[in-house]
Amino acid sequence: MNVQFLGTCACDFRPELKTIYRDCFDKDARRSTSVLIDGELLLDCGLWTSECLRLAETDVSAIQALFVSHSHVDHFETESLRKVAAQCTKPLAIYCDRAAAYRAEGVEHVEVHTLTPFVPIEVLGWKITPLSANHYVSDEEQPLHYLLEKNGKKIFYGCDGGWYPTRTGLFLYEKEIDLFIMDCTVGDYSEDRRAFVHNSIPMARELAAALRTHGGIAKDGQIWLCHLAPSLHKSHTETVEIAAKDDLHVAYDGLTLTI
Ligand SMILES: [Zn+2]
Ligand SMILES: [Zn+2]
Repeated sequence: MNVQFLGTCACDFRPELKTIYRDCFDKDARRSTSVLIDGELLLDCGLWTSECLRLAETDVSAIQALFVSHSHVDHFETESLRKVAAQCTKPLAIYCDRAAAYRAEGVEHVEVHTLTPFVPIEVLGWKITPLSANHYVSDEEQPLHYLLEKNGKKIFYGCDGGWYPTRTGLFLYEKEIDLFIMDCTVGDYSEDRRAFVHNSIPMARELAAALRTHGGIAKDGQIWLCHLAPSLHKSHTETVEIAAKDDLHVAYDGLTLTI
């Protein structure tokens, strides 16, 4: 199973993405968070995702399904979606919360399916369970995390969100997840105003400890921090050193994992 981090940023994109980093990935010049699994299942399609697919030299025609976390433009953006959908061989199947679907209005070559938290669906051989996220867009929209299961492997994708709603947190216990992708927008300090919608490194430490203690992470499972704000973190290299003390990994644009 192949998991590619196309982008790993929060929404504070560096201006240099349009100049010196225009044609390359860089660990300190992150683009909008998006993950591609086995070349066919995309998680989030934000402002930079079509560009990330170009830089990764992805065969976009093979992408069949898109699962959207929420409608903030760094995760779901109409023009980026239009470019991706136009290259897909089959109409792109989009799965999202009902109130996030407006971003796909007027986009051709897509089929929109709405999701209900905790009601799993089967797509491309995956069992995918949408989970409530602790994040806010509007009173109408419920941002989502996802648990993806296939061939005995489990992946969690949790961007964006700070902590987890009680039902989601309890759902994750005993799941023995192999690859846990965790929001870590904020750096290694505690007083940030985003504490109720995004994780910091101290919050990630607490969550990781609870999940590991209560069976949320598989014996050989890994936790990867994602959705990092460059303006709130130290350099990628320094962040890797900080996170390693708690056996946390730090994702970067272009990283591919095999699980
Ligand atoms: Zn975001
Ligand atoms: Zn958001």
